[in-house]
Amino acid sequence: MPLNGLILGVDLDGVCADFYTRMREIAAEWFECDIDDLPLDVSYSLEEWGINSPEEYESLHRFAVTRRDLFRTSPMIPGARRYLRQLSDEGVRIRIITHRLFIHFFHHTAVSQTIDWLDHHGVPYWDLCFMKDKEQVGADVYIDDSPDNVARLRAQGLFTICFGNSTNRHVAAPRADSWSEVYDLVHQHAEA
Ligand SMILES: [Mg+2]
Repeated sequence: MPLNGLILGVDLDGVCADFYTRMREIAAEWFECDIDDLPLDVSYSLEEWGINSPEEYESLHRFAVTRRDLFRTSPMIPGARRYLRQLSDEGVRIRIITHRLFIHFFHHTAVSQTIDWLDHHGVPYWDLCFMKDKEQVGADVYIDDSPDNVARLRAQGLFTICFGNSTNRHVAAPRADSWSEVYDLVHQHAEA
């Protein structure tokens, strides 16, 4: 498979955008607690911060996006711009795939913050897909940090790189702990 024309399906939160770092700051405000009381190592449900149900998660998430501009203000994960630009220059088609519309009634906010963030950070992309069923977008290689997404994509035989963080330590290789490792894995896969 040549690199030229290869479609790279790239998740945003936890892969390009440092969702958990920004969410921790916002959660400290939400709970009116010291940020140091919120552990850095979290699982996908944020139960370590005292989020005990999907409804509580939704409340925090709604506050974070609509009142604190979560999707506009998350820091970029180092290397995302540099290595995505490099892959794009080498002919890879970057297809951003995100499930950021999973909470109803603020889609305009979520989409506009996302586009502002991508422009502000100079992240290159051809396609921007807001969807849950990531396998439907037909990428050749996927990068995701959610254990469920990685498992579902791999179960369908799709080459999926797990971008490492505290939510996915149990997920098997191929894994990348940095964007330079993603870059190498994409090359290895294209050459194999
Ligand atoms: Mg993610």
